[in-house]
Amino acid sequence: MRPNSQALKQKSSHDTEREFGGTLGAICIPGFLPLTVLFLISVSRSPEASVLQWPPSLPTTEQLWDPLAPVLLLGWIALHALLYLMPVGKVSEGLVLRDGTRLKYPINGFHGLCVSGVLLLLFVGLGAPLGYLFELMLPLAMCAIAVSFLLSGYLYVRSFWAPSHALALGGNTGNPLYDFFIGRELNPRIGDFDLKYFCELRPGLIGWVVINLGMLMKEVDLRGSPSVAMILVNSFQLLYVADALWNEEAVLTTMDIVHDGFGFMLVFGDLAWVPFAYSLQAAYLVVHPQTLSNLTVVVIVALNGIGYYIFRKSNSQKNQFRRDPSHPSVARLETIATATGKRLLVSGWWGLVRHPNYLGDLVMALAWSLPCGFSHLLPYFYVIYFTILLIHREDRDERQCRAKYGLAWETYCRRVPYRIFPYIY
Ligand code: NDP
Repeated sequence: MRPNSQALKQKSSHDTEREFGGTLGAICIPGFLPLTVLFLISVSRSPEASVLQWPPSLPTTEQLWDPLAPVLLLGWIALHALLYLMPVGKVSEGLVLRDGTRLKYPINGFHGLCVSGVLLLLFVGLGAPLGYLFELMLPLAMCAIAVSFLLSGYLYVRSFWAPSHALALGGNTGNPLYDFFIGRELNPRIGDFDLKYFCELRPGLIGWVVINLGMLMKEVDLRGSPSVAMILVNSFQLLYVADALWNEEAVLTTMDIVHDGFGFMLVFGDLAWVPFAYSLQAAYLVVHPQTLSNLTVVVIVALNGIGYYIFRKSNSQKNQFRRDPSHPSVARLETIATATGKRLLVSGWWGLVRHPNYLGDLVMALAWSLPCGFSHLLPYFYVIYFTILLIHREDRDERQCRAKYGLAWETYCRRVPYRIFPYIY
């Protein structure tokens, strides 16, 4: 056993630092974020689309409920649970857990996306009014919020039956509000069905592209054909989702899977925030159509391409390095040793800034907002929120890496002084 992991193992989970504002954050965030989702959807369809308008554009109670919404939402989750269980694709092992074991995960999310795509085309071909998702967005978001609370409650209660080595180090503080929010159990499973892994990349992420497509179909209903701006937003975000599912195995080494417990923060993020807040640009374009010049289209496509290139190359480089440091694509990169036995890359993408993958992600985020023009702030909500999220996430990751790697991390920070933006931050 090496010194740092020994120290980590011996550290009581009750004395870990609290994140997201501690108990106060755990009380406020579960109230504030669901209201934000409903508010943003509501504002995106108002003619003014102003987040600062007073009184704010709030949904009425009738707009929040439609009996079709729970049927569609639960049906969608059930469909993806079935697709998860499909015996196709390979089975991959996660990183080694604290008890020395490794969990197995089915890598078939991309198959799930393809099957969903075929089913959707079939429904549209048969005349299903996909554009009606525009009217259903608020009730669907309400149901996703309700499901997030119910699932988080279930996860919190069942975590008391989990053995102590199965609990997340940061989610077992003894404060029920905080633990409910941050997540107690690291990898809750029903049999072989991994609830966190399932929610991370499937119903919410694929749901996001379906909602986008629904907005595109609504535009077709209203104006006869989809606008270039709508096609750009749909294509960019579909590429992002398809990429995440194509590289599904890489999620097994991310903070969400390796470090964070499965509680309200991740459940709500996966099932409600991603599909309903990330589809805001498409929802906005339905009511606020934009005309783009050819030059603008070329610039936006190029920007998304650059962002995607940085994002994909840097994520693949680190993933390859973590899985097989002797692989020819990474073997020649300069690295530094750490006391844990793992090495850190100090050249290649990870020698440019300490989080090149976040840089690429943010460049893409900007490209997703630009098709919506400059008349409103609302479509830029995503890029603003995402910058804050990734700066905060980078800070959390730095603290974990400093605790894990100590002096080696300090050396890495000296060698690579910028966190996300070269020469800026
Ligand atoms: P990262 O993929 O950035 O992983 C961070 C980990 O990488 C560290 O904890 C460390 O883990 C390892 N690492 C850090 N520096 C080095 C180095 N120099 N050499 C080798 N390994 C290093 O984590 P995230 O999960 O935050 O991000 C994954 C992707 O998901 C990103 O592209 C991000 O933009 C995206 N993302 C998207 C979100 C969205 O809502 N769209 C939300 C969150 C993330 P260790 O050493 O233990 O391996």
